[in-house]
Amino acid sequence: MTNRLKSLRDALRHKAITHETISPKVSEYYGKDVFSRQVMRDYLPSDVYTQMTDLQFSKQQLDRKTADMVAAAMKAWAISKGATHYSHWFLPLNGATAEKHDAFFTPTGSDTSIEQFDGTQLIQQEPDASSLPSGGLRNTFEARGYSAWDPSSPAFILEGTLCIPTIFISYTGEALDHKTPLLRTLNCLDEIAAEVCQMFDKSITQVYATLGWEQEYFLVDESLYFARPDLKLCGRTLCGHTPAKGQQLEDHYFGAIPERVASFIKDFEMAAWRLGIPVKTRHNEVAPNQFELAPVFEEANIAIDHNQLIMVLMEKYARKHFFRILFHEKPFEGINGSGKHNNWSLATNTGKNLLSPGHTPKTNLLFLTFFVNIIKAVSAHAPLLRAAIASAGNDHRLGANEAPPAIISVFIGKDLNNVLNDILKRVKERKMTPDEKTQLKFNIGKIPRIIFDNTDRNRTSPLAFTGNKFEFRAVGASANCGPSMIVLNTILADQLKQFKNEVDLLLNKNIPKDEAIFRILRRYIKDAQFIIFEGNNYSEEWVKEAAKRGLSNVTNTPEALEAYLLPKTLALFDKNNILSKDELHARYEIKMESYSKVLQIESRVLGDLSGNHILPAAIRYQNILLENIKLLKQVVPDADASEHVTLGLETIGKISEHIVQIKKLVANMIAERKQAKLIEDSAKKAYLYHERIKPLLEQIRYHVDKLEVLVEDRLWPLPKYRELLFIK
Ligand code: ADP
Ligand code: MG
Repeated sequence: MTNRLKSLRDALRHKAITHETISPKVSEYYGKDVFSRQVMRDYLPSDVYTQMTDLQFSKQQLDRKTADMVAAAMKAWAISKGATHYSHWFLPLNGATAEKHDAFFTPTGSDTSIEQFDGTQLIQQEPDASSLPSGGLRNTFEARGYSAWDPSSPAFILEGTLCIPTIFISYTGEALDHKTPLLRTLNCLDEIAAEVCQMFDKSITQVYATLGWEQEYFLVDESLYFARPDLKLCGRTLCGHTPAKGQQLEDHYFGAIPERVASFIKDFEMAAWRLGIPVKTRHNEVAPNQFELAPVFEEANIAIDHNQLIMVLMEKYARKHFFRILFHEKPFEGINGSGKHNNWSLATNTGKNLLSPGHTPKTNLLFLTFFVNIIKAVSAHAPLLRAAIASAGNDHRLGANEAPPAIISVFIGKDLNNVLNDILKRVKERKMTPDEKTQLKFNIGKIPRIIFDNTDRNRTSPLAFTGNKFEFRAVGASANCGPSMIVLNTILADQLKQFKNEVDLLLNKNIPKDEAIFRILRRYIKDAQFIIFEGNNYSEEWVKEAAKRGLSNVTNTPEALEAYLLPKTLALFDKNNILSKDELHARYEIKMESYSKVLQIESRVLGDLSGNHILPAAIRYQNILLENIKLLKQVVPDADASEHVTLGLETIGKISEHIVQIKKLVANMIAERKQAKLIEDSAKKAYLYHERIKPLLEQIRYHVDKLEVLVEDRLWPLPKYRELLFIK
């Protein structure tokens, strides 16, 4: 039996695992493995507790004595829950999570020991992280990187280890992770957004970004996964003929979740709830074997930690259930890929959502201020947003008629468009008449109702306003949400600073406040209108229209990444103290390198698959056909066999042609890889991979997929799409 048939047989064996139910009430165990406020209240003196709870919003540092007390409390709590180790937990630039465990246990003599963990170990560690990416920021001889406690994200226990969320920086203080710049953006945004809010409402003193991510993913049976080297090594299939049935019947979305899958979901959800991750929604997605989960939104920093953590949990529980999880943006050709929608908004200390309109013209002016500033910010930095979501995986998905295109635009809905047009029409550079003012206020006062009625949702837009938040839909499923959030927060903070300055200038000229605000907003609307698009983003017309508007449509990662190095971008990050020039360069380098590496691996794997799996199977089948013809010719009279022989020779010819093409193309690909190897410059190398190697991958795939339908099923060495895709 071929490996493939063995794998198929094994795949059928896996039954749903049933659970011992802990408690049907999630609220009874929600957050039980988190060093939460509740735990802190129990374990800390009240003044230290207050200091800790304030920390989330203040910039003050904890003193050593307090840190010792917090560490002692963490240790006591963790040990009481069976933890034996602690670890700083961080998010390096390779997109994964990193941890290095140390035991609490410390020998104190030849036969004595204690459990030790104090403030120093809590606050800072020095993981030997020389093999984590630094983009040149940390030379290997100066391999030291520091992880430093982020007290705003609660510690948690994962498999007997107390995990402490930390930032990760180089010896000289440069950010080597996503969290460091993210925290900088949150502070920066808080400061200026609160200032702007104060123009409307003195009680608002703090503003923080909120994020509700929606995570899409595929599941594949483990035994089939093992029989596909491409899935194992690349996370996506590099070949595979479209199955007769894909997603065309549209019968998967919101359909019943298969029992085996439901059982897996239950397991990881339970683990997530224990870790205080508020997962709430689950459903099938459009493609077969594709699913989605979404939590209740949280403060952005915590939401990102939770997203990274849940990806780890999902991988773990998938294995337990004899699945493998695919977070790749495009694991299968011909059916939808996976994204990670980032729902983004702003909340205040007063419990207000700044993107949710109120009931009076005044509160709605606050809403409009943020709303318009966001659109303006996006219009000024669209290429940077595109860069933030660029990856080799996402290149397959963006613009593939299933996900937003690589053209960044904003959807706001018909009614809000009318509101903006109303402002354009009524607000004048001169003093507005009382009539104009009354009408404008009246119209603005109506906003909450129209949003409530506004159910038209444009699912094709990369950045859509959906009633009380913006939904950034172009983010890839495997991505860390950090880069997208960093860009959104930064461009908005920068934009708000500009807004505040401009309004202040008018106020100094004794122009009334409302009028000043309206005038500036009007100008922003005018300037930014070109980024608003309400139509079908998947259509050809939009591609043309966008080009006319001067919007960029960059469909590949190397080119998209260039936006990181635009003088405008460097200035933006530098002046807001988010990322220095060097830090930004490092990120650019890492992303370029990672692009080349992904393509290099894919290219090697496809070369191996072709040479060692596909071609031998094709040749074996071709031999069977040749043997058949030989026998026909020997045994059957010419006249009777001729048609059969002709058809047989035709198939043999086709197989030969594909074999020859594959051999040639693989040889070309190897030669191109050799060229790439000689290139030092990371951008040049990435461009070579994009321009010369990626097309070869596609051409080889074409011939392999043709062979798949020609060669006898029993001889085909790889599980086919129809086998991979329909979990029952
Ligand atoms: P859908 O977009 O699928 O129709 P919803 O509008 O209910 O569904 O919300 C989708 C996501 O938006 C959820 O993950 C939720 O957490 C998130 N979300 C809702 N409100 C906010 C907010 N104020 N800030 C950030 N995310 C939010
Ligand atoms: Mg959504």
